[in-house]
Amino acid sequence: MLLTISTDHKPATDLGFLLHKNPGGHHTAEFGFGVGHVLFPEASEERCTAGLVVDVDPVGLVRGRPGSKGNDFSLAQYVNDRPYVTSSFTSVVLGKMFSTAMTGRSKERPELAAEAINLEVRLPVTPCRGGVDVATRLFEPLGYTVVAEEIPLDPKFPEWGMSRYLDLTLSTTATLKSVLEQLFVLLPVLDDDKHYWVGADEIDKLLRRGGDWLADHPERDLITRRYLRHDRKLTEEALGRLMEDDPTDPDAAQASHDAEEEAVEKPISLNQQRTDAVVDAVRASGARRVLDLGCGAGNLMRVLLKEQGLERVVGIDVSHRVLEVGARRLHFDTMAPRQRARVDLFQGSLTYRDRRLADFDAAVVMEVIEHLDPSRLGSFERAVFTHAHPQTVIVTTPNVEYNVRFETLPAGELRHRDHRFEWTRAEFASWTDGVAARQGYSVARSGIGPDDPEVGSPTQMAVFSR
Ligand code: SAH
Repeated sequence: MLLTISTDHKPATDLGFLLHKNPGGHHTAEFGFGVGHVLFPEASEERCTAGLVVDVDPVGLVRGRPGSKGNDFSLAQYVNDRPYVTSSFTSVVLGKMFSTAMTGRSKERPELAAEAINLEVRLPVTPCRGGVDVATRLFEPLGYTVVAEEIPLDPKFPEWGMSRYLDLTLSTTATLKSVLEQLFVLLPVLDDDKHYWVGADEIDKLLRRGGDWLADHPERDLITRRYLRHDRKLTEEALGRLMEDDPTDPDAAQASHDAEEEAVEKPISLNQQRTDAVVDAVRASGARRVLDLGCGAGNLMRVLLKEQGLERVVGIDVSHRVLEVGARRLHFDTMAPRQRARVDLFQGSLTYRDRRLADFDAAVVMEVIEHLDPSRLGSFERAVFTHAHPQTVIVTTPNVEYNVRFETLPAGELRHRDHRFEWTRAEFASWTDGVAARQGYSVARSGIGPDDPEVGSPTQMAVFSR
């Protein structure tokens, strides 16, 4: 069984530092079921490839199995696909041989370990229950470009049809840590099998490796169920814990926290001024099809729908609960059919590429980025700017410098308990300039609300155009 990871990040040989393996060497580790090898079939400045080979010993497999006394001979125990395909064995070897890289640490290249770099993973023979469709649904939302080819059962006998194996190539720009973690979890999920007994400690493993990305993966349930070998109790517990820890699921406390934020900002009716400024910016952009990303209960959408020039207004939010409130407040049930055809609400996460976001002229991201974990801002940027790619993107976020002017806000506190951060004007300028440069947009920033000579305005807005 072979899996390769390649990069063209220069110098590409840094991959060795990231994996803690010298590209000149051949590294081995022994497992109960066989031997793992890491070697580098290519290692130049331009491109470097690390290969993971898992040499599964079919006899060792049987020996290692609990309850096997050696006398229950069956051919299938000895003759099976395991030595040749990517599976949970691969996952175990990957987890062990790249354990430090999977924690995101690198002694020699700490900054590079935290950087998103071009990575290509080849899995030439991967069993996949559900075929190309499942492989795509698992990896695409995480930002991978997926090329999957079905492998025929026997090329000499095409009439036999296709096997359940895929030749998979996954390309992405991401940290090596996240790619390794995702492979670790998703290889046995593709195969829908595990060679070992799955107990409660598997939940800890799943949450440790999937903590950052699993909670808002659209196939979260499928991944959890398959990872835990369809054990209902374990799956329920894992999903429960995922949701508890889920940093972006605001269902539980969102409403009361929103009220707190409103109370803090109320004396200057900032909400109204923000909505006005955003609607002005949408109007100025000339957009006819508008997305409201992180739309909440649809307050802005209600105003946008009054704009005659807009032919379509679509809101996306990660929280099912606020979308239900939104559909009620927008009166979906009693809306005239022509009006109803202009508007939609979808559940979705802004940190995943989503085809439904394509073909819009403008996207509004009003008071949302501060709810994202800073480590997810790169994924957000790619999902919105690279993939959805509208002409105009309007982003608003609090200006933390202004917080000292809010009388009801204790010093040093953020405006909303779910805020992961609030930025100074300089921090917002630096992030927006970076996005604009990377994504080929120009950006204009302004303040919303009273402009204080010392600390600026309470809200900052950036309008990106391309
Ligand atoms: N834009 C609205 C709501 C802001 S509150 C307004 O200005 O009134 C932030 C909203 O972002 C919440 O509704 C929350 O559910 C949503 N959100 C947080 N993380 C998200 C994510 N990853 N994807 C989509 N929506 C998200």
